[in-house]
Amino acid sequence: MTTGRLAPTPSGYLHLGNARSFLLAWLWARSLGGRVVMRIEDIDLPRCKREFREEALRDLEWLGLDWDEGPHAGDAIGPYDQSTRFEQYRRALDKLIQTGKAYPCVCSRKDIEEATRAPHGDEGAVYPGTCRGRFATFAQAAEFAKSPPAWRFAFEDAPISFHDEIQGPITIRPRDLGDFVLWRKDGLPSYQLAVTCDDAAMGITQVLRGRDLIQSTARQLALYKELGLQAPKQWAHVPLLIDPTGRRLAKREGDLSIKALRERGVKPEKVAGLCAYSAGLLLRAEEINARELSAAFDLKQVSRADSALPEAPQQMTGLA
Ligand code: GLU
Repeated sequence: MTTGRLAPTPSGYLHLGNARSFLLAWLWARSLGGRVVMRIEDIDLPRCKREFREEALRDLEWLGLDWDEGPHAGDAIGPYDQSTRFEQYRRALDKLIQTGKAYPCVCSRKDIEEATRAPHGDEGAVYPGTCRGRFATFAQAAEFAKSPPAWRFAFEDAPISFHDEIQGPITIRPRDLGDFVLWRKDGLPSYQLAVTCDDAAMGITQVLRGRDLIQSTARQLALYKELGLQAPKQWAHVPLLIDPTGRRLAKREGDLSIKALRERGVKPEKVAGLCAYSAGLLLRAEEINARELSAAFDLKQVSRADSALPEAPQQMTGLA
């Protein structure tokens, strides 16, 4: 069964770029006649808030998206909040420890910055493998550091290739990414581990997300392999939305949120049209609803390059 997912991180209010990625993920799954799962990616407990979760759900419903599984819908394969699924991630980590694919790491961010002159990857300085093979056990590493270590994945150095439905054939070398964190020093699972366990547990076949996560697909493919889990069938990494000054939209304060647009009376069709237009699906930013867009949706029409909004989102939505 074709199954897509919407996976917001409730660490702030959703902005136009987030809404656009979720709209495209929804359009892809629905246009294939597939199901949609809503999953809340709230593993980063200190940064995620209940209020952001509620507003994200409201924003996406307002935009015209719906889902078959998750909060406000069915719950056959849940729970859907990652903060309630830590046991499953821990079991996966244990499996990687048993097979020798996970090792304890005592390095701080500063140690890594200092130890490596290597170029920075998408997650900061590429980890040089300092702790790989260094400690026989977690307890030994903890004793050495006098605090709990992290767990890292021993990334096998064979290139990972996959087909991206938008970007084309992709090959990534693990050495350019480094051994990545599976479980953080502060006791929280990593995004890579959680998302892999959940996409498999929830039977996700189509993953569509921002282009900034394309390297993570290589990490996740390695985890599917090591954990013996079924990987999604298709990947699509969509370009990012840039404001007229060349800045990527972010959940930082001051950037226009979907919540603000909603509360100031902007129509959802206006926002959906703007998202579709900026993704290359429409010739102009006309008002249109999500369902109308799904009837004619073709992933091949989504532009490959990042798209800059010609004007500030405020002006484009008539709020300036
Ligand atoms: N939770 C991420 C976000 O809100 C998406 C991660 C993913 O799609 O794998 O951007």
